[in-house]
Amino acid sequence: MPEINESTVPTNFIKKIIDDDLLTNKWGGRVNTRFPPEPNGYLHIGHAKSICLNFGLANEYKGLCNLRFDDTNPSKEETEYVDSIMEDVRWLGFDWVDRLYYASDYFDKLYDYAVQLVKEGKAYVCDLNANQMRETRGTLTEPGIDSPYRNRSVEENLDLFDRMKKGEYEEGSKTLRAKIDMASGNLNMRDPVIYRILKVDHHRTGDKWCIYPMYDFTHCLSDSIEHITHSICTLEFEDHRPLYDWFLDELGAYHPQQIEFARLNLSYTLMSKRKLLALVEEKIVSGWDDPRMPTICGLRRRGYTPEAIRDFAERIGVAKKDSTVDFAFLEHCIREDLNKHAPRVMGILNPLKVVIDNYPDDLVEEVEAINNPEDLTMGTRKLPFSKVLYIEKDDFMVDPPKKYYRLAPGNEVRLRYAYYIKCVDYVKDEKSGEITEVHCTYDPETKGGSSPDGRKVQGTIHWVSAPHAIDSEVRLYDHLFNAENPGEGDYKQYLNPDSLKIVIAKLEHSLKDAEPGSRWQFERVGYFCADNKDSLPGKPVFNRTVTLKDTWAKIVKKG
Ligand code: ATP
Ligand code: MG
Repeated sequence: MPEINESTVPTNFIKKIIDDDLLTNKWGGRVNTRFPPEPNGYLHIGHAKSICLNFGLANEYKGLCNLRFDDTNPSKEETEYVDSIMEDVRWLGFDWVDRLYYASDYFDKLYDYAVQLVKEGKAYVCDLNANQMRETRGTLTEPGIDSPYRNRSVEENLDLFDRMKKGEYEEGSKTLRAKIDMASGNLNMRDPVIYRILKVDHHRTGDKWCIYPMYDFTHCLSDSIEHITHSICTLEFEDHRPLYDWFLDELGAYHPQQIEFARLNLSYTLMSKRKLLALVEEKIVSGWDDPRMPTICGLRRRGYTPEAIRDFAERIGVAKKDSTVDFAFLEHCIREDLNKHAPRVMGILNPLKVVIDNYPDDLVEEVEAINNPEDLTMGTRKLPFSKVLYIEKDDFMVDPPKKYYRLAPGNEVRLRYAYYIKCVDYVKDEKSGEITEVHCTYDPETKGGSSPDGRKVQGTIHWVSAPHAIDSEVRLYDHLFNAENPGEGDYKQYLNPDSLKIVIAKLEHSLKDAEPGSRWQFERVGYFCADNKDSLPGKPVFNRTVTLKDTWAKIVKKG
């Protein structure tokens, strides 16, 4: 995998096009992009790339970016999706100001455009059903066959189209098709359907229409109506461009420039809304905002920041060729952000009790802990220290291998910000073989974590004071799929059975009042976020955002 860093950020070829357009004054100095989601699901990280690109370019060139709902398919669209999309775009840090549009607002204009095509002999009403249409469409190597209805007169077509609109025909019995070329090498040009009958209510236009324009017809004309300058879309629309050009030219409409870029693919992740919806409907995940989902609301609940997602989008750049980005790179971006901004705290996921034999029974001292060594302005806090503590189970071993610097019989370690302790004994459950308690002595001279005699210890471990710690549910998330490319084949067979483990952790008491959505580094353990749904006042639940181990940085180092 090539290294992605500041010096090798792929040049954004779209900026080059805009720069050239500004030089030649192609659009009168305007830059107007748009983000055109179909409201049939929640936005995912792939959409975030498109949002950052479109709104980002508008910001950079002091232009405009519209938010437009491409709502041409009434049966699959819901206002819940519209609301979530607006929330997610705002959360990412972007603002469409007063430019919120719906393709459905253009239904009248689109109808007029269709009538114009009919009048010019460029569109006809066709009575073939979906099957017949498929059969006569031809293949990549064979031309299609002209529809027997292709040569209806303009008058007849106008009449039939009008009656389609009035609801006189059954769904599927008639369509309006563009009259282009059934032998075209580009299948999109073989008399595509531009209107179909759908006797369904629309989330905005209600029962006003029973014919709806197709996506291809709507999309390019919506861009035209809004006077978009650069209509940025993903590569699969390259083959649709000749059709868009045809519509716009035949109709003599304003003609934006379409620019295609490679969509984002991410390893271990599905990005198809249809498949994500199936995960939700089949309750494989808890909802669109399940922290394992690649949705923006899922990532938000997981603890991702808008800054990290924008940074990710910027650093992966924009390319003309499809590729897959390593999920570890997304994790790298969130780690970089949280490392700088998340306060550090102490939390024990797998608690092991430690008793300091020579510490006074009732004494509670305070030690001072630094909130973030990366940013000392974040200050310090006081942690209670007492005779009984918890440490992580894997910070103790009875028979450690060489170079194990944590706690072991006879071994001395530093408790972060507190004292040196030395293990003198341990208690083992004879039945299970598990260690249930470790006994230590502490050196009162080492308060704060250093020794006046200059004695060094190799290991530093984290801890919490047992009587002060809070018990908290912590959800340890991992990839939802254990295949790098779950989208290939039956994705359900790749579900990772270990994508969620729940533990009851012992956390420092300051986390009791963690705000829902607040983000933390549990020292030596990982980054965590107080769940924004299930946390109760005084009883936070934490989601693991990401572990501390940066596998991406490691891959890059190896080269
Ligand atoms: P899906 O295939 O998941 O249903 P879609 O492309 O149909 O996605 P839209 O709502 O039409 O979803 O997408 C809105 C915009 O987001 C489009 O301009 C589309 O090009 C862009 N987009 C969607 N997925 C990605 C992706 N993986 N990477 C970059 N841009 C994307
Ligand atoms: Mg789409």
